[in-house]
Amino acid sequence: MTERSFAERFGAFDRNYQEILEKIARAAERSGRSPGDITLLAATKTVPVEVINHAIARGLRCLGENRVQELLDKYDRLDKEECDLQFIGQLQTNKVKYLIGKVSCIQSVGSVKLAREISRLCEREGLIMEALVEVNIGREENKGGALPEELVEFIDEIRAFPGLHVKGLMAIPPICSDKKILYRYFTAMEQYYVDIRAKSMDNVDMVCLSMGMSSDFPEAIESGATMVRVGSSLFGARA
Ligand SMILES: *Cc1c(COP(=O)(O)O)cnc(C)c1O
Repeated sequence: MTERSFAERFGAFDRNYQEILEKIARAAERSGRSPGDITLLAATKTVPVEVINHAIARGLRCLGENRVQELLDKYDRLDKEECDLQFIGQLQTNKVKYLIGKVSCIQSVGSVKLAREISRLCEREGLIMEALVEVNIGREENKGGALPEELVEFIDEIRAFPGLHVKGLMAIPPICSDKKILYRYFTAMEQYYVDIRAKSMDNVDMVCLSMGMSSDFPEAIESGATMVRVGSSLFGARA
């Protein structure tokens, strides 16, 4: 990328970032919380490292990558000291090994097989990986995640793994233009989150509810999200 287009992307990020922070703050207030209760995770797939590091210099403190190979390509050049790095994409069991020691949290844990492998590899290194349980809230064939009715049983099974610590839930609801239906998905997620927290299961903390993307993060916050994952509204449309 040329210097000029980097300058344009930096400027666009600065404007978008302020706007998103304001929208987060307003949505937090509407939900009776303070802006500091909501974590903005920047979804950085396809975003060049130069732009990500600019974002970190401007105050971004949490980012998420989707693909293992892309994360590894960027990893050495990222200003990681200042910024928490998480994994948010679909993850194959045979690629878990590349993430151990590199990301603080895997947000897409939706199968016992995946949870077991994360735990096994972490235990070997004396580490514990934070994990969010992905919920297939729209019951979509092409999406990963535990089905809502299996959620409690699933968490009860994986909480026994010593190299893994469940910290909350994550969801990507179906694309829908009807806000009423969208709110229904988000509200259902918040209810699972609250119900599971009330069970006070050992080795399970319900402290993160990760939902909401560029098109719907204010609605997600109003419904109780503690983390939103925003990509294109921060960095521009992906090519
Ligand atoms: C890309 C991505 C996002 C962000 O999507 P935008 O619509 O660009 O904000 C959030 N979560 C996951 C899992 C993603 O892959």
